[in-house]
Amino acid sequence: MRYISTRGQAPALNFEDVLLTGLASDGGLYVPENLPRFTQEEIASWAGLPYHELAFRVMRPFVTGSIPDADFKKILEETYGVFSHSAVAPLRQLNGNEWVLELFHGPTLAFKDFALQLLGRLLDYVLEKRGERVVILGATSGDTGSAAIEGCKHCDNVDIFILHPHNRVSEVQRRQMTTIFGENIHNIAVEGNFDDCQEMVKASFADQSFLKGTRLVAVNSINWARIMAQIVYYFHASLQLGGPARSVSFSVPTGNFGDIFAGYLARNMGLPINQLIVATNRNDILHRFMSGNQYVKETLHATLSPSMDIMVSSNFERLLFDMHGRNGTALAGLMDTFKQGGGFSVDQDRWTETRKLFDSLAVDDEQTCETIAEVFAQCGELLDPHTAIGVKAARECRRSLDIPMVILGTAHPVKFPEAVEKAGVGKALELPAHLSDLFERDERCTVLANDLKAVQAFVSQHGNRGKPL
Ligand SMILES: *Cc1c(COP(=O)(O)O)cnc(C)c1O
Repeated sequence: MRYISTRGQAPALNFEDVLLTGLASDGGLYVPENLPRFTQEEIASWAGLPYHELAFRVMRPFVTGSIPDADFKKILEETYGVFSHSAVAPLRQLNGNEWVLELFHGPTLAFKDFALQLLGRLLDYVLEKRGERVVILGATSGDTGSAAIEGCKHCDNVDIFILHPHNRVSEVQRRQMTTIFGENIHNIAVEGNFDDCQEMVKASFADQSFLKGTRLVAVNSINWARIMAQIVYYFHASLQLGGPARSVSFSVPTGNFGDIFAGYLARNMGLPINQLIVATNRNDILHRFMSGNQYVKETLHATLSPSMDIMVSSNFERLLFDMHGRNGTALAGLMDTFKQGGGFSVDQDRWTETRKLFDSLAVDDEQTCETIAEVFAQCGELLDPHTAIGVKAARECRRSLDIPMVILGTAHPVKFPEAVEKAGVGKALELPAHLSDLFERDERCTVLANDLKAVQAFVSQHGNRGKPL
């Protein structure tokens, strides 16, 4: 499988190289040159497979040429073996023909484990084969950091540095990162905000001289391997609910458009999906596009669903690329306009075509809490605020009651106690067994000034299993 950039100017890469890259050299994002397509018979024959075996069938075309089947199978069995629920991604019914796909049974209790548990293992496999080491540098406002650290903690060939804004992530989220020890794990609390952290990561990718030749790898959802891993659970859910003979709809709490883009790909690979709902919080750039064909940056608002607090949705570029007939030059122009502060609209025909599949809703904090309370009263299920936004959007935007509606349950409620308390459901939140002593564990973290040079000096001092590069 070959991968091409959405801006048309960067060289095509194979899976191994795309795994080890961040942005393409032309500023674009990598996508498969040709998407695999499965027949209905083929998909139907996968019904009842354990999650890791389904994962093998869905993802195999993306890695052919880079990873032999037997090795890939083994990696997948290990990856999904660490999930605490034997179904890996169980469905729970909320209401008539309405289901939550629970994606929070991984080590860090959010859906990001599906991709990052795999990414860590894939990196280690490929690097071992090549005899190389890499440095991962990422910024987090919460969920990504812990999932990336958990995913890479056993990787002999990876040193991972995660920046978080000092004193600005929740205690559960901080402890999920800082209580994992290893000579290759480095938590840095930056005396600044999340944007400062993200800017430092961007600047470090742009000028990597401080790494003395060691390669830098991205762990945010611009990394293709993350999107790839998320395609699987759309097939998994559909097969549980009568697919592919029957069409299914999905409502997806969205920030960077990564998770829902995986659903869009599942559909293009042959899975019958009737409707994809973009569920955002008050940071609603995607909703403004889907409802009014305007893609314009606005100011950032802090919400009760912080993992979706974004101004710009990085993976949306991957959808725009398809919307424009995969014309990289056109897309480069569009993204240029956007970068210069201009918003844009797309051709009315293209927008109308997109809207045949996508609907959207923006949900504010008050509605989020109301939905948590409503669902708890209806069926005793306690939702996290992100999932609650998905449920609200599903209920508002649903086109047909005959078609099963699946809401992606992106996090466990225990990660976001503030929203649950505000919703006033009066149910005590308990950490799952493997995290029950989280608040007693020792922490390890380095506080650094909000200064790029200080952060880069730290990385180059510790980037080789804790020793200088
Ligand atoms: C990361 C995250 C999201 C947003 O996912 P995207 O792929 O950026 O759309 C939603 N909910 C939770 C709990 C998350 O951690």
